[in-house]
Amino acid sequence: MPEPKTMVTRRPNFIIAISVVLAGAILAIALWVLAQMHDDALRRAQDSVFNVSLLIERDVSRNLEIYDLSIRSVIEGLKQPGVQQLDPKLRQLVLFDGSASAKDLGSILVIDENGYIKFDSQAVPPRHVYLGDRDYFKVHRDSPDVGLYVSHPFMPRTSASDMSIGLSRRISRPDGSFGGVVVGTMRLRYFRSLFQGMNLGAGGSIALMLTDGTMLMRRPYDLKTIGIDLTDTANYSRFTEQPSGDFFGTAAIDGVERWYAFRHIDMYPLILDVALSTQDIYVGWRRRAWIIGSLIAALDLTLIALAVLFAQQMRGRLAAEEELRILARTDGLTGLDNRRAFEESAETAWRRAQRSGAPLSLLLIDVDSFKGFNDLYGHSAGDEALVTVARCIAQNARRPGDTAARYGGEEFAALLPDTDEAGALRIAEQIRSAVHAVALGHVASSHHVLTVSIGVATTEGVAFATYRELVNAADQALYGAKDAGRNRILPYRAMAGAAGNPIVVVPGH
Ligand code: GH3
Ligand code: MG
Ligand code: MG
Repeated sequence: MPEPKTMVTRRPNFIIAISVVLAGAILAIALWVLAQMHDDALRRAQDSVFNVSLLIERDVSRNLEIYDLSIRSVIEGLKQPGVQQLDPKLRQLVLFDGSASAKDLGSILVIDENGYIKFDSQAVPPRHVYLGDRDYFKVHRDSPDVGLYVSHPFMPRTSASDMSIGLSRRISRPDGSFGGVVVGTMRLRYFRSLFQGMNLGAGGSIALMLTDGTMLMRRPYDLKTIGIDLTDTANYSRFTEQPSGDFFGTAAIDGVERWYAFRHIDMYPLILDVALSTQDIYVGWRRRAWIIGSLIAALDLTLIALAVLFAQQMRGRLAAEEELRILARTDGLTGLDNRRAFEESAETAWRRAQRSGAPLSLLLIDVDSFKGFNDLYGHSAGDEALVTVARCIAQNARRPGDTAARYGGEEFAALLPDTDEAGALRIAEQIRSAVHAVALGHVASSHHVLTVSIGVATTEGVAFATYRELVNAADQALYGAKDAGRNRILPYRAMAGAAGNPIVVVPGH
């Protein structure tokens, strides 16, 4: 029986296909996991920048609020009758509470309507400094309802101090006219150390700016960035779109791509942004992706390579098996089917003919006086003659389904399905005349050349019970043909019909 080729394990390409699908599935899972890890990394970064921005906002707004309270209390104090006439030391105590002396807070100054310091939390008598050109002074002078104003950064004139900003409120006289300004200075150093204390990674940045786009402080710190105008930057436009938000953006200052979280600080004209560099966010992920990616790639490649190797081996084995199978079915000398293979196909053809009722013909072909040929021309010449005869048979029994075989020795057989007696006799005659036409000299034969005799049996008109009976009938016909003088064809029916008095049919001779 032929091997069942549909079995999965016997199909090399199928094994490769399965390995590729498996490798693809592993790769897909790995990619999915990596994508999840990528998302997680961003989510962690988002949490981190959100927390940092919240922390800074709270600290800044609390400090500003306290400072603002001090400024308000100065304004309230100034309204009290008699405060201006108090003894300077006492007046200091009444006007300025302790908050102004807190770290990083500068001095609280009361500035008169002409721009000169009138009272000074840090000095009695006040330092004689003109501040009428400061932005906070002009803003309050020009409009009465600014409320709390946060100034642009400046270098204080009262002391050789650090860059500062001023928080200021207007002093309005009872008639509403401008009566000066109370300003509290705040060192930018406060923001700098606040930002420095946050854990943000090497590429992280924090920036605090006025809502008009003026930079107040930035981490990483660079004096040159303080006071610059950010209004034309892409990030600033996004900061102004919403009260808070986050996005991927590139800093105009250093060109680094970062994930930004920004918020407008409650009640104050300030915008804070905290950002982690994309590089920092994904550095851990990238390392892991490399490791996982290479492992998966190696695994996949190994899997496919093993499958290819296995498939190659299997292909070789199948080819060898097929070769053996063909060898086992083929006659080594003539290349026709051997007897075993012939019997197999014949049984199948017989059953098929039985089922369909179609005629089935069998030719038995025997070389005439072959013993004599061997004796005369030698055994190898005999072999060559057999090859010639085989070729004549194969060339004439060539319809699909026809089977020609070396039946044994110098005897051949041809099985012709769907062929009636007339057709079988026609093919037999073609074979006989083909061998005759080769005109292979055979001086010991009465025909002078090598010839064959053919017995023909057909299931047409005769009821053979078994395939064996069909063979016997063809054999009998063959002997009949020999008896009648060789180089001829005898159908079994003619022989049987004559009841021992065979009719020899020699078509075309
Ligand atoms: P006929 O069939 O006409 O009655 O006479 P024959 O001489 O052919 O009769 P037989 O069947 O007795 O002889 C068959 C001979 O065929 C015997 C053997 O020498 C020869 N023969 C059989 N097989 C081979 C083969 O493979 N090679 C060669 N060279 N000769 C073979
Ligand atoms: Mg013979
Ligand atoms: Mg013989």
